Amino acid sequence: MNIHHHLDDATIVAYAAGALPAPIAMVVSAHLSFCPHCLARVRKAEAIGSAVMEDEAPVSLSAGCMNNLFERLEAETRSEVTAPALTLSETQEESILPPQVRKALGVPLSEIKWKRIAKGVGMKMIDLGAEDEGKLYLMKIEAGRVLPEHGHGGSEVTLVLSGSYTDKFGQFGPGDIADLDDHEDHQPIVDKGADCICLVASETPAKFKDFLPRLFQPVIGI
Ligand SMILES: [Zn+2]
Repeated sequence: MNIHHHLDDATIVAYAAGALPAPIAMVVSAHLSFCPHCLARVRKAEAIGSAVMEDEAPVSLSAGCMNNLFERLEAETRSEVTAPALTLSETQEESILPPQVRKALGVPLSEIKWKRIAKGVGMKMIDLGAEDEGKLYLMKIEAGRVLPEHGHGGSEVTLVLSGSYTDKFGQFGPGDIADLDDHEDHQPIVDKGADCICLVASETPAKFKDFLPRLFQPVIGI
């Protein structure tokens, strides 16, 4: 597994501080379980966070201070971490799912009964008992399918389990995580050759611009 897309700084710091909504923290932890690059950044953020907490002088976290923190985080992890090249066989695809998700599903990925929400698009909601904090679901999109351009009303993280898709941010394959800012529009196109299965967590439901609202809203519960 060659990981090309990682968590952004704000997500790393929020995760280290225990401040992420449960569904997003779940997807982040799945990525961290096989991404030494991001795990080292979390450890660094935890270390910097605890150093700040232990500082007896009053600390105000101004925007400039946060920027310095991110720069320090990036500089220190870049110099210390070299992610090993990992390979992930097909049978291991679901091993990157968090144990809680596998338990909630109750069946292997190959036996999931997908709810068809649009042509070529299936969804499986995952109930972790934390619905008030956001949604967690699997999506399966058929090879070659083009999704409508859409934005997101809140934070959303997407972890690719199998297959791949491409949008303006690049190509996302197994292990890659798309960590989208609020209001960042994109139009994913699933690459030809294999269906793409992703684990998605959103703080608030995605707001699709085109035809998907009518199709997604009853399912996601907008
Ligand atoms: Zn990473």
